[in-house]
Amino acid sequence: MTTTNPAAVDQAIETWLGEHADERIESLKDLLRIPSISALPAHAADCRRCAEWIADDLRQIGLEHVEVSETGGHPVVYADWLHATDAPTVLVYCHYDVQPTDPVELWDSPPFEPAVVGDRMLARGASDDKGQIHMHLRAAEALLRTRAALPINVKFVFEGEEESSSVHLETWLDANRERVAADVAVISDTGFFEGNVPAITLGLRGMMYAQIDVVGTEVDLHSGGYGGVVQNPANALATIIASLKDADGRIAIDGFYDEVVPLSAEERAHFAELPFDEAGYLDRLGLPELFGEPGYSTLERRGGRPTLDVNGLWGGFEGEGSKTIIPAHAHAKVSCRLVPDQEPERIFELFEAHVRRVAPRGVRTTVQYLGGGSPIRTPHDHPVTLAAARALEATFGRAPVFVREGGSIPVCSCFEDILGAPVVLVGFAPSDGHAHAPNEWMDLGNFETGIRTIVRLWDEIAALPADAE
Ligand SMILES: [Zn+2]
Repeated sequence: MTTTNPAAVDQAIETWLGEHADERIESLKDLLRIPSISALPAHAADCRRCAEWIADDLRQIGLEHVEVSETGGHPVVYADWLHATDAPTVLVYCHYDVQPTDPVELWDSPPFEPAVVGDRMLARGASDDKGQIHMHLRAAEALLRTRAALPINVKFVFEGEEESSSVHLETWLDANRERVAADVAVISDTGFFEGNVPAITLGLRGMMYAQIDVVGTEVDLHSGGYGGVVQNPANALATIIASLKDADGRIAIDGFYDEVVPLSAEERAHFAELPFDEAGYLDRLGLPELFGEPGYSTLERRGGRPTLDVNGLWGGFEGEGSKTIIPAHAHAKVSCRLVPDQEPERIFELFEAHVRRVAPRGVRTTVQYLGGGSPIRTPHDHPVTLAAARALEATFGRAPVFVREGGSIPVCSCFEDILGAPVVLVGFAPSDGHAHAPNEWMDLGNFETGIRTIVRLWDEIAALPADAE
C-alpha cells in the first residue's frame, strides 16, 4: 500500500471534520431519534428503520457491499471497504439497538428527542451504543473524503439484538464466516474509566439469564378461606430467592464458584492502581454504604467476581390498598454476571438444580433459561491493543488505563470462537453516562476526540509490521 504522512493527513482530516461539525451533530440526532428498542416487539419496525438508516449512511459514505442482512430477528447491518492491499483487515462491531426507557418520567427530556445540554448529548443510545456507531461512520467518512481510501480494510458488523442477549448473532456469524473473516475484531461498546480517563477494557463478564415461575392454583384464592391450608406461591418464591445468596452477598449455589479463575496477584495490583474515587462513587449512588462479597475491593467485585441479582419479581396484588388473596402464581427474573471460566449453560444447570432442591412443597416451580454469554479476557499485549493505546494517548493526551469491566457483550466470545480473531475493546462512553438508565448521555468531547482516535487507530494498524496483526 502507499505510505502516507500522518501529520499532513491528520491536518486534512481535522479541517474536513471542522467544516462538518454541525452537520455531524444533526446526523447523530437523526440516528438517536429512532427508538430501536430490541426487547419490545412493538419497536421491531423501528429497529429495521434504524438498520436502514445506517445502511443508507454507509452507502453515502462510500462503503461497499452494504446490506441489511436478515437474522430471524432484528437485522445485522454489514458493509466493507477492502481495497487496502496487503494491509490488515479489521472487523468493527457495535450495536444499534437500545435498552427500554422506563421509568420514562425520570428523564429530563424525552429519551428519543436528543438534546444537547452543555457538552452532553442526552438521549437513549447516545453512548450505548448508537453514538459509537456514529463515530465509526464519521471516521470512515472523513478518511474517504480526504484520502479517497482507508488505510486498512474494514468490515462493519452492526447488530440489532445486543440488548436482548444477541439471540441470532452467533448463527449469523457462523453462516457468514467467510464474509466477516478478519485479523482482529475491534468492538466499540465500552467506555472510559471514572473521571473520564481513556480506557481499554481487557475483560468483560459473561451472563446467565433465567426466570423462575412458581404456580399454584388457576386463579387467586381468598386468603381467609384458604390461608393456612395451601402453599402461597409468592411466599415460596421469596424462600427460593432468599436461599440464593448468604447475608454477606456470597452466592450459595453449590458449585457456582468452581470454575472461577482466582484473580492473580498481578490482576489485583492492576485493580488497586486504578484512580478510583470510592467516596465519590458512593456519593453519586446516594446509598448509605456499598455492599458486596467479603475479601474483595469494589473494583474487583465489579470486574473480577461473579454476581447473582434478581432483576424483577411479580405476582399477586400490586394495586393500592389491600386485597386479601393468595396469589395464583409468582415469578422472578434472575441474572448472573459470570467471570472466566464460568460458562452460562453450566451455571444455569447449577442454578436450576439449586432451585429444584429448595423449592417449597405444595406448588409447581419451573426454571427457564432466557439466554447467556461467556465472559472474556482479551490480550493486553496484542499489537492492536497497543496501537489502540497509542491512538488514545495521542488524541486524548493521556495514556489509557487497562480495566476489567462488569458489563457483558455476549458476542465477544463468538468472535473469538467462530472467527478465531482476537477482540480489542475500545469504547468512548463516559463512565457515568447512565447507560441502560434514565438520562443516558454521551460526552461530546469524547465523541469528537473519539472520531479522531479511530482515524489514528486505523493509521496505527496500517503501520504495524506485516506479521504483527
Ligand atoms: Zn452496549
